Amino acid sequence: MTHDACAQLAAEHEALIQFLYLAPVGLVQAGADGEIVMINPISAQLLMPLQRDGNLTNLFTALERVAPELRHLCAQFAQPSGMVCDGLHIHLNGAAPPARRRPQVLSLSLLKLDETRLMAVLQDVSEQVRRERQLRQNDAWLNALLTSITDYALVGLDREGRVSDWNETIGRVTGHDAGVVGQPYSVFYPPDATTPDQAGDRLREADQNGWSLDEGPRLRADGRRFWGSTMISPLPDRDEAAEEAGEPAYCMVVRDISDKHDAIEQRRHALFADHLTGVANRRAFFEAAELELQRNRRAPRPTALILIDADHFKDVNDRYGHPGGDAVLHALGNLLTRTFRQVDVVARVGGEEFAVLLPSSTLAGAAAVAERLRLSIARQPIVFDGREIACTVSVGVAATDGEPVSLDTLMKRADSALYAAKANGRNRIECWTAS
Ligand code: GH3
Ligand code: MG
Ligand code: MG
Repeated sequence: MTHDACAQLAAEHEALIQFLYLAPVGLVQAGADGEIVMINPISAQLLMPLQRDGNLTNLFTALERVAPELRHLCAQFAQPSGMVCDGLHIHLNGAAPPARRRPQVLSLSLLKLDETRLMAVLQDVSEQVRRERQLRQNDAWLNALLTSITDYALVGLDREGRVSDWNETIGRVTGHDAGVVGQPYSVFYPPDATTPDQAGDRLREADQNGWSLDEGPRLRADGRRFWGSTMISPLPDRDEAAEEAGEPAYCMVVRDISDKHDAIEQRRHALFADHLTGVANRRAFFEAAELELQRNRRAPRPTALILIDADHFKDVNDRYGHPGGDAVLHALGNLLTRTFRQVDVVARVGGEEFAVLLPSSTLAGAAAVAERLRLSIARQPIVFDGREIACTVSVGVAATDGEPVSLDTLMKRADSALYAAKANGRNRIECWTAS
């Protein structure tokens, strides 16, 4: 080797040492027995706290307390050169660091350069270990959540609101398989419960307010409905490029709250339903009728009221007993429910007295339905305890004549028509007229 070549090699070697010395990792060059030949500042910083006497001369001695196996590991390493250990994690605060203490961890790679030289690369990986541990904990937490909850579906949505992937919870709550991926989230709603516009509005609401919550009928894959609540929230740290690649942009939680809903419905029912007949009770009738007539004042339209009173009901009780009378009332309630429309309010407002409010119905229209009802009651005796109970009703019909009127007025009109029906022989209907 010429002198120049030698000088160049020496210069390169010097540059390499310089580089290693300033490298952002800890480097230690040591002899086979661990005696330190070269150490860069980062290594010194990492190893110094381990050294009780402050005398940093031997790598193995320095790491004795936290990695006693190291000396042995090197002695055992038979090959002339190679990696003795690669990224060995050395826990500085005890073998089993308490979970709450921040872990302090060094990563050590030890390279045997030849029979006499070892090179150690040291790195403080505490932060990385901490983050990994946190991730593992989050993972475990999420896993526990996913497997232990039975009434939530966790759904990822892309930014158009399409389901971005399938998981166990979706299957469990909605019965959908992986085929649901790519479909708009409204697939979980019955068609009559949402529109594409509303579906888009919920995403915008979530963007603006941080979340969007709604409750109502939901749909399972097999077409069965359930009562659910849906919460959509935008995912944090959203990234345009990732979203463009179809990554989820929103998280949606669908909950099956049928039980809660049933309980609320039961309470509502107890408050507003008549226990004997199942139709609305007096309180529900007056609340609903007041509301309807208020609406009517803002946008006048004909509204009719029908009052129905069973004829000679005392005689029914006398002949068939109170339970017989009850059976008749129950049957009347059923018949009324079947006769009137969904929008009509059917209620039992007294012992053997029923009232029906018919929104958007004229006097003539209401009278026609009332007459049909009267006829079918008169024709069809009620069967109780193997006996047939004949029963008739008298009916008073009244309506707002385009002019808004109070509920009280409307009731008085219907009542006077009912009185007329009784007076005119019962088992008949009478309509209120201004005269
Ligand atoms: P009309 O209306 O045709 O003039 O004669 P009515 O016999 O029906 O008249 P009234 O209003 O005087 O009597 C109503 C009867 O209804 C009295 C009461 O015993 C009976 N009644 C009220 N509530 C119930 C009930 O919940 N069950 C039963 N079985 N009977 C009831
Ligand atoms: Mg009566
Ligand atoms: Mg009566």
